[in-house]
Amino acid sequence: MGIEAYKNLLSDIGVDVEKHAKMMNAGLESYKKQFLSQPNRPEAMKYFDWFMSEIQGERIAEINRIKKERKPAVGTFCIFVPEEIIVGAGGACYGLCGGSPATIPDAESELPRNICPLIKSAYGFKLQRTCAYTQSSDFIYGETTCEAKKKTWEILDKHHPVHVMNIPHMKRDRDLRMWKEEVYEFKKHIEDVIGKKLTFEEMVNGVKIINKKREALQRLDSLRSMNPDVVPISGKDGLFITQMGFLDDPVRYTQKVNELCDELDKRVQDGVSVFKKDTPRLMVLGTPFAPPNWKLHTAVESTGGAIVNEESCIGHRYYKDNVDLEGVEDEDTLIDRLMRRYSEIDCACFTPNTPRIDKILKMYKDRQADGVIYYTLSFCHTYNVESHLVVEALEKEGIPCLIIESDYSAEDTGQIKTRVEAFLESLTFKKKAKLFKDIK
Ligand code: SF4
Ligand code: SF4
Repeated sequence: MGIEAYKNLLSDIGVDVEKHAKMMNAGLESYKKQFLSQPNRPEAMKYFDWFMSEIQGERIAEINRIKKERKPAVGTFCIFVPEEIIVGAGGACYGLCGGSPATIPDAESELPRNICPLIKSAYGFKLQRTCAYTQSSDFIYGETTCEAKKKTWEILDKHHPVHVMNIPHMKRDRDLRMWKEEVYEFKKHIEDVIGKKLTFEEMVNGVKIINKKREALQRLDSLRSMNPDVVPISGKDGLFITQMGFLDDPVRYTQKVNELCDELDKRVQDGVSVFKKDTPRLMVLGTPFAPPNWKLHTAVESTGGAIVNEESCIGHRYYKDNVDLEGVEDEDTLIDRLMRRYSEIDCACFTPNTPRIDKILKMYKDRQADGVIYYTLSFCHTYNVESHLVVEALEKEGIPCLIIESDYSAEDTGQIKTRVEAFLESLTFKKKAKLFKDIK
């Protein structure tokens, strides 16, 4: 139907309808240009194209129907949110808009200029009232991961309710005990929103739903990246599907991702690839890509490379671990398992964070990639500083790496393309030299 049909709803939840429409039209145009023009897309992408057209329309109506039944609607900017608890309560948990440069000037009226664009973009969406997800949410989930976010919650709370969860920066036993208490407190907060106690069965149901969603994404990852001769879907589409997983209803989404995977499975068997043979295969490491941040993927794939995996929170870091339900028979064990699953997240906010490096090296080998791009958002100090150790480990293994630090502006697009082009050339040269050596 498109957002036109939902004008009244959008206005009722406090969206600035005019500004919002302008922004959405620009977003849809950009999507059409960057996505629909790709050749040989899988048929099953039609669902995700439809979802994009209804992203601030029918999906918002669904969320508001959920709210009418006094079920929770929670917005987040981080994968530490225990979404199983929200979904177990029959509610909706979703990622908030934070990937557009258009809202940043407004945010800079209250926040410093030199902090990460994700935070500023998200904050600007609230000030402008142009994100219908933010407007629909009972509260925004905040966490104490990086300095900029931690302090932003205090100011954002003036404009929208925020619940802050204290995420420790180390993983010692005493940190994990505190973390478990935080999960309990989060559950209590959800119970306050819905006005009733959550049962053990409801929570187990929430875990099962989200486990299935993560399994579908693991399957997609494997089809995208584990077949060296066939890449059945572009990296851009792969990223987009993952991004939509933070907005869509989890049950429907899981079904649609699995349908897509059935098609990709067939493509792999039939040798149908969307890239030419010998296209350099790249993994992207680093900070999250909030939609509509498609800049890097567009630059790489329009320059002759293929992105086969994102080691990012909008990527592998989100879906790599499931909650182990084996032998869980009471609430305390369940909360413990939730905490343990979340403490496996290898965000750069932790010290030390060596499991991340080991994981990257393993992922690289398993995927038979040709190189990696270490991508950080400007002013993201944790990922920027951690790049030193990651790059050192990559160099030791002889893994080619390109470091890109960028924000959401279009200003450096040309420069990124030039650097990517040079990187891809060096990878192609390396590949040919190796082939030549092997023949000799
Ligand atoms: S990078 Fe860290 S802080 Fe950012 S979304 Fe991921 S887990 Fe959260
Ligand atoms: S990208 Fe970095 S600076 Fe930005 S919110 Fe995430 S952890 Fe914080």
